[in-house]
Amino acid sequence: AKSGGRGAFRFFEPELDEIMHTRRNLERDMRAALAGHQFELYYQPFVNTATGKTSGFEALLRWHHPQRGLVMPGEFIPLAEETGLIVPLGEWVLRTACAEAAKWPLDLSIAINLSPAQFRSKELVPVVVGALASSGVAPHRLELEVTETAIMHDSEAVFAALGQLRQLGVRSALDDFGTGYSSLSFLQRFPFDKIKIDRSFVSELTSAKAEAHHLARAVVRFAVSLSKTTTAEGVETKEQLDILREEGCAETQGYYFSRPVPASSIAKMLPRDAGA
Ligand code: C2E
Ligand code: CA
Ligand code: CA
Ligand code: CA
Repeated sequence: AKSGGRGAFRFFEPELDEIMHTRRNLERDMRAALAGHQFELYYQPFVNTATGKTSGFEALLRWHHPQRGLVMPGEFIPLAEETGLIVPLGEWVLRTACAEAAKWPLDLSIAINLSPAQFRSKELVPVVVGALASSGVAPHRLELEVTETAIMHDSEAVFAALGQLRQLGVRSALDDFGTGYSSLSFLQRFPFDKIKIDRSFVSELTSAKAEAHHLARAVVRFAVSLSKTTTAEGVETKEQLDILREEGCAETQGYYFSRPVPASSIAKMLPRDAGA
């Protein structure tokens, strides 16, 4: 039974009321989770297409919810962005990932996903500098991944921060390339080092579909013409890998090589002679 005070909300659809309730719970739980060490980073390798060697790892957030179990980022990142919680959470991600990368061979890169709100916070540059300093990770090993959508929402803030970080040697990558709507000249303006070809393109790559090959080739050439390197995401089959290698894509990532795994499981993906 609803109390008098909540009577005003009766005209809400019950479903909406329930969604709002769930959101409030999720937000409350997320704040507790950050303090309670319920977040964990998983790592998915990037593989050099020509040599087959691991060239780095992308950090991907996981939440061990005390009641709900493992919660994936798709379920909580959007709310973390809306509530601003992504700023302290993103700082935790940066610090934790750099601390982990400090244990790997020195030539391996560490990639981190950034949300638009982190660029708006004005704290991004000092937070990155702090994470590098306290971990001892060299700036050129750090790669910041940003989506086209994020840039379109706040291009000046993103442009300014990535420019400053680039001066320090930190690299950046355009994530999910091909899913946004920005023009080629717009992309050219951004000082990305790398373009990550979205999984939706890669999943189209089969020997039967010539147009998909042409599209992959066009993206790789476009990237090369701008002096950027390419990584294909979501590679699940050997056939996709072979096509990407043939089209000149420098790096690949996907379940074909490995799913994202906890930090404790990555040692076996590192070169044998590494002192890690
Ligand atoms: P993303 O950055 O595009 O990451 C790639 C997603 O595709 C990951 O999902 C990864 O597990 C999944 N994936 C990788 N290889 C394959 C494959 O071969 N097949 C298929 N079907 N999927 C593959 P995940 O871990 O659920 O992350 C989803 C999204 O959440 C990420 O997309 C990223 O946008 C966001 N995210 C994850 N961690 C963070 C973080 O620390 N900060 C921020 N701001 N966003 C994050
Ligand atoms: Ca990413
Ligand atoms: Ca992506
Ligand atoms: Ca994505």
